[in-house]
Amino acid sequence: MMLLTGCEQDSTLEVPHTFVTESPSVSPEPTATASPVPSQSVQPSSTPAASPMKEPAGFETGLPKEEAVVAESKKQTKKSELKPIYSVGKGKVAITIDDGPTKYTAELLKVLREQNTHVTFFFLGQNAAAFPQSVTEAVYDGHEIGYHSDTHPQMTQMTYDAQNLEFNSGLSKLVKLDKQPVTLFRPPYGAYNNDTKLVTEEHHMQMVLWNEDPQDWATNDPSQVVKSVLAQVESGSIIVMHDHPSTIAALPGIIKGIRSKGYTLVTVTH
Ligand SMILES: [Zn+2]
Repeated sequence: MMLLTGCEQDSTLEVPHTFVTESPSVSPEPTATASPVPSQSVQPSSTPAASPMKEPAGFETGLPKEEAVVAESKKQTKKSELKPIYSVGKGKVAITIDDGPTKYTAELLKVLREQNTHVTFFFLGQNAAAFPQSVTEAVYDGHEIGYHSDTHPQMTQMTYDAQNLEFNSGLSKLVKLDKQPVTLFRPPYGAYNNDTKLVTEEHHMQMVLWNEDPQDWATNDPSQVVKSVLAQVESGSIIVMHDHPSTIAALPGIIKGIRSKGYTLVTVTH
């Protein structure tokens, strides 16, 4: 089950509204470079390849951030040019739902149908395997399906090889449930490093982060979630939320509120 802890982000950091270009530039081949990667907070690579965290134990919170590559990662001298996506276009807002599918996803999909809205899901491989029908239903309903790792580890604490393994194991569970290629990846906790970017682009995928975090997991009160989302929403917002009962209950109010501010709800496209 999910825990309410697991936030490795520095909670003292404010979330800056960093707007990157809305159409991400793809760099198909990273160029090799001799410049060394900064070696701060290098950790010994004696940790096991798989993350000790075996369950989807955390929610995205705080500032998405790039971190240093772990020591002895074989790709660390190769610099990725991948540019993460933080926002959608002018006048648009994207609702993104992480950490599903869960036992609540069927209800979530029903609410979205009633509101005639499409969102972008970032599904975990292990959860897709546990609730395959919710994935196929989300695909059928026309939502955008992104990938969020297999087991929700902190990717930045893993070597390149371990990240690649984690990526492949969950993706294989998800792609067989989607008739379209899965092309969007959101790293757990918004934590990534150069190796995460390399693995993402080697799978011909884009990295999608966010610029609005209403911390929907921190309350069980749907009206608080509505208030928090609508207080922050602005043109271009990518809002990170979770497959969680109070968030589902809040969605009608969120969707109506966003529309009444004149924004168009979109999925994150690629
Ligand atoms: Zn997550």
